[in-house]
Amino acid sequence: MNNALSNYYRILSGKAKPRFKSADLDRKIKQAGKILESCELCERKCRINRAEGRLGFCRAGTEWRIFGAHSHFGEESELVPSGTIFLAGCTMRCVYCQNAPQSIKPELGEMWSDKEVAEWIDKKHKEGCRNINFVSPDCYLWNILKVLKLVKSDIPVVWNSNAYYSEKTAELLKGIVDVYLLDFRYFNEKCAIELSSAPNYPEAAKRNHLIANKDAEMIIRVLVMPNHIECDAKPILKWIKENLGAGTRVNILAQYHPCWKAMEYKEINRALSMEECGEVVVYAKRIGLKNL
Ligand code: SF4
Repeated sequence: MNNALSNYYRILSGKAKPRFKSADLDRKIKQAGKILESCELCERKCRINRAEGRLGFCRAGTEWRIFGAHSHFGEESELVPSGTIFLAGCTMRCVYCQNAPQSIKPELGEMWSDKEVAEWIDKKHKEGCRNINFVSPDCYLWNILKVLKLVKSDIPVVWNSNAYYSEKTAELLKGIVDVYLLDFRYFNEKCAIELSSAPNYPEAAKRNHLIANKDAEMIIRVLVMPNHIECDAKPILKWIKENLGAGTRVNILAQYHPCWKAMEYKEINRALSMEECGEVVVYAKRIGLKNL
């Protein structure tokens, strides 16, 4: 798959349609609704019936809960301005989360109807946003599919996820997403469990990146954390180079700073140093990654 986002630019210039416009949304909505009855939208696979009001780890129900929606100028240069919707309720629990507690407590988010979300998206498109960017979307797949059916504008869809979603979600996303904007957070499962309560994260992330890379265009975010360079950042970059190719678009994020409960974890209770960031960037270039 072309990692230079060429199809995304074709949509922006009106030469192609966003992929959801030709997708079988009715079938996908039905399938996603069925998954909610024994939820395994993410790798955690709580298997509770959300359709009957039960809540799993993410605590998301069946209604939209949104804790922020605006034109965002801080995303990757290809994507801005981006009509960004921050969804409340997350499938992971990162101790350093910069949006907690709103991000992880759906009850703190505002309830919107499908119609309100769709109208907001059309409005953002008219205002010049280049895409609709769903942040932390995985537990809201059913809601998102329903809204895409109502959206009138030809706006590309960005799936801004921690990459901890299930195979079933990955399957339903095929043909819907124009740009996968995926974190690759941990290569070591011990780190994923300790810092994000995310068992099997590395395997899920590898699988989802491979599928996403075949399905559409992709940008990978690698957040570098202090003392997690050898166990996570470097092996992630090496895996990307070996499995997705040297041209994969990778954004090495150096902005880590301790938030929320990070002060309880000595090794990540400080900002990343310039030297550490430099070491990771030099490493990425040395192993041959070309699209940083
Ligand atoms: S989305 Fe994930 S965390 Fe939320 S209920 Fe479903 S399986 Fe559990």
